[in-house]
Amino acid sequence: MSTPNILILGAGYGGLLTTLQLQKKLNYNEAEVTLVNKHDYHYITTWLHEPAAGTSSADHARVYLDEIINKDKINFVKGTVASIEPQEQTVTLEDGQVLPYDYLVIGLGSEPETFGIEGLKEYAFSIRSINAVRHIREHIEYMFSKYKNEPDRTDYLTFVVGGAGFTGIEFCGELGDRIPELCKEFDVDRELVKVYCIEAAPTALPGFDPELVNYAMEILEKKGIEFKIGTPIKQCTPDGVVLATGEEIKSKTVVWAAGVRGNSIVEKAGFEVMRGRVKVDEYLRAPGYENVFVVGDCALIFNEEGRPYPPTAQIAVQEGETLGENLVAMLRGELPHKFVPHLQGTLASLGKGEGIGQVGSKKLFGSTAAMMKKASDLRYLHKIGGVGLALKKVKL
Ligand SMILES: Cc1cc2nc3c(=O)[nH]c(=O)nc-3n(C[C@H](O)[C@H](O)[C@H](O)COP(=O)(O)OP(=O)(O)OC[C@H]3O[C@@H](n4cnc5c(N)ncnc54)[C@H](O)[C@@H]3O)c2cc1C
Repeated sequence: MSTPNILILGAGYGGLLTTLQLQKKLNYNEAEVTLVNKHDYHYITTWLHEPAAGTSSADHARVYLDEIINKDKINFVKGTVASIEPQEQTVTLEDGQVLPYDYLVIGLGSEPETFGIEGLKEYAFSIRSINAVRHIREHIEYMFSKYKNEPDRTDYLTFVVGGAGFTGIEFCGELGDRIPELCKEFDVDRELVKVYCIEAAPTALPGFDPELVNYAMEILEKKGIEFKIGTPIKQCTPDGVVLATGEEIKSKTVVWAAGVRGNSIVEKAGFEVMRGRVKVDEYLRAPGYENVFVVGDCALIFNEEGRPYPPTAQIAVQEGETLGENLVAMLRGELPHKFVPHLQGTLASLGKGEGIGQVGSKKLFGSTAAMMKKASDLRYLHKIGGVGLALKKVKL
């Protein structure tokens, strides 16, 4: 019998944790494991709002895969997946390579959900990769330098963040810290810089406890962020945004942070999806396929009340770990475990030393929440790369 071939697409939280479990638990020759990823690094998506604003470097948010992957056990292919052919059990890369599989793990992450709003795809930035955040940071700096040469152009100093969910709020926290530094560097009066956080829902941070939401908004308002809540964006243009109220905000920087959908490659492969996400079974299998598994933002799972879990790194990590163990069990003819998420709480940063969080029934504010977030980062780094990586990366 030939050695089974496990192909893992994407080295994000879900794909990487599946890979690391297989690396740890499989014996040599039990399976051929191949990981395909666009880049030769894993990025810590939950930190990307920092390099996007320029409060930390993009390099800090990435971990080179050769630091954590044992190439004697895992074949790594640096490549971009172009398509998945589930009927043929193959995956095609942009360079034309065709990779066959016996078991497929899809962990290709997400794409921005634009809800059909005109112009967002064309004119808005989104915080989604190392390349994207480097672009946002440089663009923001460029806007300050351009303003110094065209001082009547206040649109250069106007920044729009679309969405006051998790990502939008965390990005605003960092922008609130970064703008005073940029004002100093470029000799710009802080009063001239406008940062709008625009949210269609009736509250910021929907789903969070109202006391925590108020705390977050107060902190961010003190940092100069202006909220427009319950105010949908109707259109994004090269000159800014038009709101449903008819108001137009002139801005050369619109960052869309209001939701994601699963990677479009999955839908194009013919899997049944809701907002690009595959409704997987309790073993994380795609419907109709015994050998195709989906993890992270590409997978859709529901809680006991039938509501979908939001896509989070926390769930992606747990899915990756369970799937890795299940693949080992299946190869050994043992029974797999059902996937059940264990939510450990939610933590959001609000810039340096500030945050909010909900852990069980406990609400956390300010530096306590910020410290808890650091502790959770530390745990993750330790999980993927041991003490060495944790010590190298964590910022205390
Ligand atoms: C700014 C920000 C802050 C966040 N904060 C939190 C938080 O505090 N807590 C939390 O739980 N969640 C948070 N999230 C959400 C969390 O980051 C995602 O849910 C998580 O990253 C999903 O993991 P994943 O494995 O599905 O995909 P990702 O981590 O996005 O990884 C996908 C991988 O696939 C690769 N890839 C994509 N397309 C291709 C292709 N065609 N070919 C090859 N490779 C490809 C990518 O390069 C990447 O390595 C945050 C998200 C953002 C943007």
